[in-house]
Amino acid sequence: TKWVFSFGDGRAEGKAGDKNLLGGKGANLAEMSSLGLPVPPGFTITTEVCTHFYANGRSYPAELKGQVEAALAEIGRITGKAFGDPERLLLVSVRSGARASMPGMMDTVLNLGLNDETVEALGRESGDERFAWDSYRRFIQMFCDVVLELDHEVFEEILEEEKDRKGYELDTEFSAGELRHLVALYKEKVEAELGKPFPQDPHEQLWAAIGAVFSSWMNARAITYRRLHNIPESWGTAVNVQAMVFGNMGETSATGVAFTRNPSTGEKALYGEFLVNAQGEDVVAGIRTPQNITEAARIAAGSDKPSLEKVMPDAYREFVTISQRLEKHYRDMQDLEFTIERGRLWMLQTRSGKRTAKAALKIAVEMAAEALISRQEAVARIDPSSLDQLLHPTIDPKATREVIGSGLPASPGAATGEIVFTSDEAEEASKAGRKVILVRVETSPEDIHGMHAAEGILTTRGGMTSHAAVVARGMGKPCVSGAGGLRVDTKNGTLMAMGVTLKKGDMITIDGGSGQVLKGKVAMLQPELSGDFAQIMQWADETRRMKVRTNAETPADARMARSFGAEGIGLCRTEHMFFDGDRIVAMREMILADTEAGRRAALAKLLPMQRSDFVELFEIMAGLPVTIRLLDPPLHEFLPKTEEEIEEVAAAMGVSADKLRHRTETLHEFNPMLGHRGCRLAVSYPEIAEMQARAIFEAAVEAAKKTGSAVVPEVMVPLVGLKSELDFVKARIDAAAKEVMAETGVTIDYLTGTMIELPRAALRAHVIAETAEFFSFGTNDLTQTTFGISRDDASSFLETYRQKGVIEQDPFVSLDIDGVGELVRIAADKGRATRPEIKLGICGEHGGDPASISFCEEVGLDYVSCSPFRVPIARLAAAQAAV
Ligand code: PEP
Ligand code: MG
Repeated sequence: TKWVFSFGDGRAEGKAGDKNLLGGKGANLAEMSSLGLPVPPGFTITTEVCTHFYANGRSYPAELKGQVEAALAEIGRITGKAFGDPERLLLVSVRSGARASMPGMMDTVLNLGLNDETVEALGRESGDERFAWDSYRRFIQMFCDVVLELDHEVFEEILEEEKDRKGYELDTEFSAGELRHLVALYKEKVEAELGKPFPQDPHEQLWAAIGAVFSSWMNARAITYRRLHNIPESWGTAVNVQAMVFGNMGETSATGVAFTRNPSTGEKALYGEFLVNAQGEDVVAGIRTPQNITEAARIAAGSDKPSLEKVMPDAYREFVTISQRLEKHYRDMQDLEFTIERGRLWMLQTRSGKRTAKAALKIAVEMAAEALISRQEAVARIDPSSLDQLLHPTIDPKATREVIGSGLPASPGAATGEIVFTSDEAEEASKAGRKVILVRVETSPEDIHGMHAAEGILTTRGGMTSHAAVVARGMGKPCVSGAGGLRVDTKNGTLMAMGVTLKKGDMITIDGGSGQVLKGKVAMLQPELSGDFAQIMQWADETRRMKVRTNAETPADARMARSFGAEGIGLCRTEHMFFDGDRIVAMREMILADTEAGRRAALAKLLPMQRSDFVELFEIMAGLPVTIRLLDPPLHEFLPKTEEEIEEVAAAMGVSADKLRHRTETLHEFNPMLGHRGCRLAVSYPEIAEMQARAIFEAAVEAAKKTGSAVVPEVMVPLVGLKSELDFVKARIDAAAKEVMAETGVTIDYLTGTMIELPRAALRAHVIAETAEFFSFGTNDLTQTTFGISRDDASSFLETYRQKGVIEQDPFVSLDIDGVGELVRIAADKGRATRPEIKLGICGEHGGDPASISFCEEVGLDYVSCSPFRVPIARLAAAQAAV
């Protein structure tokens, strides 16, 4: 087996495509070398050795030693040097390199091969004894830290003592002789601490460093990093061994990092920093202020330190040429590392550069314009979720964040305001022109007005599909939910967080993108939706097959969704239309009435409100499909809770508060989510469905007259498990349609369909499709009922599950493709078997999640429907799924 791949001198045994085997760094070093770029020669020990290492009690394959020797000899041949030979000194660096970049997982070892003998050779060859001893000193420190696990602080102490003794301020004041003495002290220390001398044999050093890199794959830092970034343990890391080049050989040497385009704005201009007479670690360490690479950047930054363009014009020109060549070759913005040794440029790394969402759009659009990539590739380059950053105000990355707590990133965007603890306070404050954050343990339908009035919502309980999260997303308001570390004391008007006690009126900021809660007011950046954003969206629309609709019930949401490109409404949750103002009283009347006559009286009040809402929605969505779902209220959300509310409803109904209290108690349910909701309500009280259907059809007639374009309402029945349930409700819908048509003399085309949100419905979809003209997958409930996990209580333990690695992702956020997805697939297939032209869509929260959207494309759904602010994300994700 080939375990070692060499590169250098215009050749390489590997290539950019070998990332799995060689890691990202190794594959790109090989590629650059093949391109004839100046890369210090070296070799990569493959990730398969890492796998072997762990599968065989931390031992190496038998052939490895010979292959490493041969590769070292090859470096020697290219450089005219020999590893371990003081006469022809060859020093190497040893670095890890996994498939995915894992910054900080494992430190680098530089200058490997130095010992008491070779240090003299380095002094002779470089003509700089001081440099040689300083390199040796650094090497001992680095090697001990990374390989021998001897903390670098023991050396810092020695260094400081010596500085004090000499009265020096800076390390650079030491002479060569003094550094030699320091090295002696370092070595004594190593022997005292470890009970054996610092290894002098370069080969012993090399194998110890290789072993340290492989071992680092399983250190705590790496394990945590992998968990956070979903990197499988089985990938392993590669090890790169490379001839040293020195950026610290005096004033004609330098080291730096650069991006081929600006990673924060996307502007097409080389962007980077360097330090004269320094090694790579010095740039990162941030002790010295780096200089700009280009003159233009120096001027823009107002820096008085000369640019690379000025101080080393030849190396600069070569670097510009190489960076342009690499960008063309990889067809993407590159992140580069380089070293200049005595005027000679060496490339140490290239990789695709990380960038902000804004920069990603600009770079993709401009690269397509430059014909470097196709439009389709431009669309594929953008991470759909990152668009969230662009649709809402975000926290200025330059601002300082004083984090006082964190919860779930329930609805994106950042918001700042005064703390208020009740919805009434929120409304009052907002009427007075003050900006507030509504802070609650959890929210309920009675908080709608407060949520509307607030800039953002913070709850200490509840998950990603809690009331607060769903409603906030719908409204496009930032929300952090389930911030369990915070304690709300509504009575005393305080919020306790990490030792800080905040009062009502104090300023806080929430970041719904990260879930962070910050103290005070923080600087924000405003969204921008034209330009590059609009261009990528247009290209995405040309590519995708699935339609993108929105979940909306208020005109404001519907309009916003239209402006984001929604192609209709996929879910109008009619019960949400009754949260506001006096409507909730009429709604409660209807729920609490104990006779049909009582209900009809309340329904008569609701009908005109409902009709006018629908007319408005039909007008906003003129010509586009609108799916209206019949009432699906988990009753507990609507029952009056306070004494005041009970009295209010009692008065409206003309009954005693006592009687109403009793009725409320009768309606109490132990599991409201599995209780008297959805179509069950329509079966118990058909007059509700009749009223709603009537409102829909009357509105359709009216809106068609107003807009002049036909309205084809899609009437949707929730929580169906039996075909007979749907048949029962459909009979009422059809009857209402007939009546309205007879009354108005206008023919109405409409569809009747159902949500698929119960496993039974999915399994019996072929039968249900005999009646249903469309299915809309309600994956919130389908996830809840498939897993048997309450969507309201899930967050408390699902996070623990995630942390312990029992599940990878919250199934309420990203569709569980194996389980819930299987039911979706079954239902889609069965539905089409009965009714080939059946319309299929999804309207659970997953309709705005890119991974779930990709699955929807795979099973051939006709559309996805999501909250307004997710519409652009869904458009892009649907386009990416289609190619
Ligand atoms: C669902 O269950 O996925 C759904 C869209 O309905 P709701 O969230 O209103 O229960
Ligand atoms: Mg549902």
